[in-house]
Amino acid sequence: MINKFNPIVHISTGDLLRDHVKKSTPVGLKAKGFMDTGKLVPDEIVIEMVKERLKQDDVKKHGYMFDGYPRTLEQAKALDKVTKLNVVAVIDIDKDTLKKRILGRVNCPKCNRIYSTNNPKLMPKVAGKCDDCKEILIHRADDNEETFEKRWNTYQEQSVDVIKYYEKRKGLVRHIDSLTMLDIPEKELKKMLSLK
Ligand SMILES: [Zn+2]
Repeated sequence: MINKFNPIVHISTGDLLRDHVKKSTPVGLKAKGFMDTGKLVPDEIVIEMVKERLKQDDVKKHGYMFDGYPRTLEQAKALDKVTKLNVVAVIDIDKDTLKKRILGRVNCPKCNRIYSTNNPKLMPKVAGKCDDCKEILIHRADDNEETFEKRWNTYQEQSVDVIKYYEKRKGLVRHIDSLTMLDIPEKELKKMLSLK
């Protein structure tokens, strides 16, 4: 969700989870039990963390945005009980383009800035090095073809249902073409996503 206030608080459920585990909070300890045995953390645990995060002052003041969440219909339904979204942004991209992007994605280990080895617009000035900190860029081991195919299939199975679920509500979902996205100035993008 994006609202008219700035800066918007960015919420990643992966980061939330890691943070709770690190701090050994009650919910973090519960989650750790699943993670240690290689199981997926159940939706109830994730939603509990989300609920708590949404009560914090920065979120109340600036509004918030989830990145890559909810991913399943169950998560979307659970989220509905906790908060009301006013924009759902869907970035449309075809499989081959996305695959090329993922396989070419590299990032700086120090500042986490993302670069690409095959997209001229996202290439570093000096090949293989971060423009800002000059660190050697790294390629995530799980950004490979096999993992991509698995993730793509999971997306087809799960996220498509989430989008359909939200599309039942008039005006909630905004589609953004990923090919033009990099060219849209941030101001325009914010306008596209802002409240009507
Ligand atoms: Zn850097």
